[in-house]
Amino acid sequence: MVFTLPDLTYKYSDLEPFIDSETMEIHHSKHHQTYVDNLNKAINGFSEFDGKTIEEILKNIDTVPESIKQQVINHGGGHANHSLFWKLLSPVKTEPQGKLEDAINSTFGSLEKFKEAFTQKSMSLFGSGWTFLIFTKDNKLDIKRHSFQNSPLSYGNTPIITIDLWEHAYYLKYQNRRAEYIEAWWNVVNWVEASEIFSEAS
Ligand code: MN
Repeated sequence: MVFTLPDLTYKYSDLEPFIDSETMEIHHSKHHQTYVDNLNKAINGFSEFDGKTIEEILKNIDTVPESIKQQVINHGGGHANHSLFWKLLSPVKTEPQGKLEDAINSTFGSLEKFKEAFTQKSMSLFGSGWTFLIFTKDNKLDIKRHSFQNSPLSYGNTPIITIDLWEHAYYLKYQNRRAEYIEAWWNVVNWVEASEIFSEAS
């Protein structure tokens, strides 16, 4: 099994001015590629991963051999989180649809209230990591932070939307201004994709 870097469905420059072209190019072609390369190195020679997706492996993280488990959490998580992050970005403005729109309204009160809560959680993440809107194993929407590259999949939860809060995701354009990056990112969230993921999970 060899994992590969997924192509983007838009150009690096398509998310300007919210996410700049240079950040997108380095983030995708260098940072994400490194997670893929290190994942492939870690699992080299372990035939139990043949034919499995990274999502399947992370969902069953307890079955991964102890000698490489942390590397799979780090680099496999990095591969899965970034693959999802790219899919959940869109150059075109979108809105939550159908079941996801309803669930956000009933869980958080409104889209605006959800955005406030998600932004607040993202601002208070210490160090590097991600914030996720998750669909929990108890069939609820929730907002969850994970440090480093830990994946919600390893905790039985399905990620619906996510933001990368490592400095490499925003430092070139926003430096230490994480709040500005988050505010800009809301403009390029792919709610159509998120709504489809939620429909399949719920
Ligand atoms: Mn990243």
